[in-house]
Amino acid sequence: MEAVDPAGEFAANLHTLVSHLTERHDDLPTLPTLPAPETVQSTIASLPATLPDAGLGTTATASYLLNDILPGCLSAQNGPNYFGFVVGGVTPAAQLADILVGAYDENVQVTLPGQTAATAIEARVLELVLDLMGVERAKFGGRTITTGATASNVLGMACAREYLYAHSPHLPKDYSFARSGPPSSPNLPSPPIIVLALHPHFSILKAAALVGIGSGPNVVHQIPCQEEDELAFDLAALEKRLAEEKEVGRGVVVVYGLGEVNTGELGRDPPRVAELCRTYGAWLHIDAAFGGFASVVPELRHLVEGMDQADSLTLDGHKWLNVPYDCGLFYTKSAHALPGVFAPVEAPAYLTASSTSAGTAGPQDGQVIHEQVPSPLYVNIENSRRFRALPLLASLMSLGKDGYRDLIRRNIKFAQSIATYLHNSPFYDLLNTYPGADAAKQGIIPLNIVLFAPARGGSLETGAELANAINATRRMYVTATKWRGRGAVRLAVSNWRTGLGGEEEVKRIVGILEEVMRESGKSGM
Ligand SMILES: *Cc1c(COP(=O)(O)O)cnc(C)c1O
Repeated sequence: MEAVDPAGEFAANLHTLVSHLTERHDDLPTLPTLPAPETVQSTIASLPATLPDAGLGTTATASYLLNDILPGCLSAQNGPNYFGFVVGGVTPAAQLADILVGAYDENVQVTLPGQTAATAIEARVLELVLDLMGVERAKFGGRTITTGATASNVLGMACAREYLYAHSPHLPKDYSFARSGPPSSPNLPSPPIIVLALHPHFSILKAAALVGIGSGPNVVHQIPCQEEDELAFDLAALEKRLAEEKEVGRGVVVVYGLGEVNTGELGRDPPRVAELCRTYGAWLHIDAAFGGFASVVPELRHLVEGMDQADSLTLDGHKWLNVPYDCGLFYTKSAHALPGVFAPVEAPAYLTASSTSAGTAGPQDGQVIHEQVPSPLYVNIENSRRFRALPLLASLMSLGKDGYRDLIRRNIKFAQSIATYLHNSPFYDLLNTYPGADAAKQGIIPLNIVLFAPARGGSLETGAELANAINATRRMYVTATKWRGRGAVRLAVSNWRTGLGGEEEVKRIVGILEEVMRESGKSGM
């Protein structure tokens, strides 16, 4: 047999990689946000048509990745000038930890007390995130780390489905969809469960489709809202609807987004919505993928008050927490909800030594009681999963509560400065000004997302054209969207480095936006 690494190739290439990453880390603020289109083409052209018989070996492969493949991929999505979607970035500590995750390649699926601390680490990290948010740990006895908010929404919908069928007046008590499949009963309304949502993120619809609730217009309805403002619930109408559905014995999931994707809006009055859900037996799922982190900043906490009253809660790690893809968080009230879906009725023999227990909310301070940590494979979708908790632990430890508070404040301040410029510019319309009197107290926009469009009569007609023109500069990146029927552009601020440059940095971004407008005037686009 050949020696594993005869020429020390691994070490040599690791050194190359370290230099590459160091340089990249320093250059991120000035790297082009997009590769040139020709570079994307050459990367695609460099792909083998079929798998060759002979392998390249480690050194040639490393150089192929660095020289041919990566140049045609996004080089600075985790840089401070990338404002598309809500992508966050990667804190230095998280990046280091993520490299270790790959190197150790531990599969965090089963609690093995005395053999590996991995699941205890994951359990504590899930608690530390609640600490960061100022949410009492005891509020959410069920917790797990997922691949992202989409997977967390799937878990939320699955828990909702189980709860609502178990409490249906038309089915045997504690009916379980997970165990018994789709129910049938002559009195069961059709559809048996509906979703009331406010501009639900697309992933909510996927989740509802996947868990057998359905995602069509007969199932998913808009939460009743005020006529002039669809972001403000009409609580009286919501109560009436919930009462009607209870009357016919239909299950209701209320999905409440904290951090609407276009505007960053946090909605209004979550505690009252939670109270209504409790009164009428509806399940409240709060999708707070990024917006929930407003709670990290004391002066914004009132905006997300009531988040801890959700029956299930989705948060993202790979957005505002700035840990690498993929990482999401899921919380639900009861420690028994997730095992009710994911634990087998009888554990497979080779896993019986591991913990199937639902776990308990541990003491606020003391050590994690490892034996009580449920095996992740009994509370989550995957069996095999990477050690996602490690970068999260690293990032939380490196920044602490203070560091995260500064990060979120800095991002919001930056977004507010850009919004103020756009609001005062004759060329742009700012579309997500914070409503009414609150603006003075709260700032011009709700959170970290700036939603804007070319001023009517300007030369750039649609949001998509404007986004294309901005992105073609390769100096910043935004996403096109539609808001209230109008083409618009979203600029989402969620990278730990954005805003570190203060006023100068705001001026630079504003300068690009002005330049795009001037150029568009010249070209008559
Ligand atoms: C980003 C986002 C999602 C989807 O999250 P992924 O992590 O991409 O799966 C869901 N809901 C909201 C509100 C989001 O912002």
